Amino acid sequence: MNTQRPLKILQFAAEAVPFAKTGGLADVVGSLPKALKRLGHDVRVVMPRYGRISIEKFGLKRILDPFPVPLGDGTDPAAILEGTIGDDVPVYFVENHRLYDRDGIYMYPDDAERFIFFCRAGLEMCKRLGWQPDILHCHDWHTAIVPNWMKTIYKDDPFFAHTATVYTIHNLAYQGIFGFRVLEIAGVAEYGFIAHPDTADLNQVVDFMGRGILFADMINTVSERYAQEILTPEYGERLDPLLRDRRDRLFGILNGIDTETLNPATDPHIAMNFDTDTLERRGVNKAALQREAGLPEQPDTPLIGAISRLTDQKGFDLISAIIDPLMRHVGCQFVLLGTGEQRYHEMFEGLAQRYPDRMGVFLTFNAPLAQRIYAGSDMFLMPSRFEPCGLGQMIAMRYGSVPVVRATGGLADTVKDYDPRTGEGNGFSFEAYDPMALYTALVRATETYKHRDVWRQLMLRGMKADFSWTASARKYVDLYYRALATKAGEHAPEEYDVFQASEPGA
Ligand code: ADP
Repeated sequence: MNTQRPLKILQFAAEAVPFAKTGGLADVVGSLPKALKRLGHDVRVVMPRYGRISIEKFGLKRILDPFPVPLGDGTDPAAILEGTIGDDVPVYFVENHRLYDRDGIYMYPDDAERFIFFCRAGLEMCKRLGWQPDILHCHDWHTAIVPNWMKTIYKDDPFFAHTATVYTIHNLAYQGIFGFRVLEIAGVAEYGFIAHPDTADLNQVVDFMGRGILFADMINTVSERYAQEILTPEYGERLDPLLRDRRDRLFGILNGIDTETLNPATDPHIAMNFDTDTLERRGVNKAALQREAGLPEQPDTPLIGAISRLTDQKGFDLISAIIDPLMRHVGCQFVLLGTGEQRYHEMFEGLAQRYPDRMGVFLTFNAPLAQRIYAGSDMFLMPSRFEPCGLGQMIAMRYGSVPVVRATGGLADTVKDYDPRTGEGNGFSFEAYDPMALYTALVRATETYKHRDVWRQLMLRGMKADFSWTASARKYVDLYYRALATKAGEHAPEEYDVFQASEPGA
């Protein structure tokens, strides 16, 4: 097998930067394809054209007039518009006004139908364009029906005879669980539910994530640590028996970040650009952030930033347990940007009132403001209960904000705890999911901050680290070749160096 052959890769995703984003999935789909393209592959993306994606702003062109796409007992029309990510990665937008002309991206009662439809349209589109992909790369539950189809209704389709599937788990907690009806919508009702002896409670529902895991030629998740963790009941979200069965095809590949757009030396959204040679300029960004957040401009007070979905997954239950003593006893400021659960909105509104000189709160989704927080904060807080990869800590390091994290998933793979005895480390991390462990880590960070030379070293270490996609994109290419070999019934050659999940503790 020629592993140097350029591949044709179609990526299926529900969101992608710059068109639609609610979290890290969009960052990945907006940046991994560019890196694959640089490696010489023909990579394209397909996603829904949500009503909020402006045809004018993104210069979208219609390339296919409405054509019938099978859906349930009949068909529904899809037109295809084309745009680009970066200069030259084609993005195909599936247009269907009934399904996608709405204000939001998720949380509609017919979400299963909405995501099934764009995936089916993406496959049918390939035939109409005469573009035969080698790889269908599917991201998260919204697209997990594709590997299922490749083993059922498209199994004997000559057009896809040599097409393999890769399924990437960005977050196992969101599985897309529905009733039998969605199998009819997807056209696979005759194959019924999936019975697995160890996931009995899932045998009478349709779990899209489970189907992706069961049917994909190769599976991966977005860090090496998380690939290990999800084999255990603690992190497996009830799918760990399935994952253990499919361990031989489960890999961990750490996400990169888009180092072109996320670059403090050129970022147009921050008050002053800086790099490792002009670190002293960074203070201008801190002062600007303090002003924007209504906090006193105090250059020497450590400023903690957090940018996150406000959910328990991200450790907000831990934060809620220690935030008052932190505000009262530790001389620091805190700026939060996030949206999520109502109780956390109320909690932060209350904190902003109680500590107006210490707490700046933005309960909204605002990407430019996020850049200003990465550039202006001294430390970046991410105490997640679980974290498949996490991008915030990597973006923070690139902008010179030192991460304070819980050692789990991708956070454990990217942040090494600072050890004052050796001077090693690039941040602060703690193991136990426990409020006091978080509090102690924050006290260690704010104490270390007082030693400016040490702190400068920590900042520089983060800024100089390579978080680009280059290495990880190569690992995806390896995974694609493995998928093709599996599909062809060959054994994958030994030279592949992708991290493979093994038995926990092995
Ligand atoms: P997840 O995908 O689980 O939400 P990640 O850390 O992988 O977490 O990615 C989160 C991404 O979303 C980061 O790019 C972060 O900056 C961004 N983000 C999260 N919340 C907000 C917000 N309220 N405003 C702007 N950007 C946000």
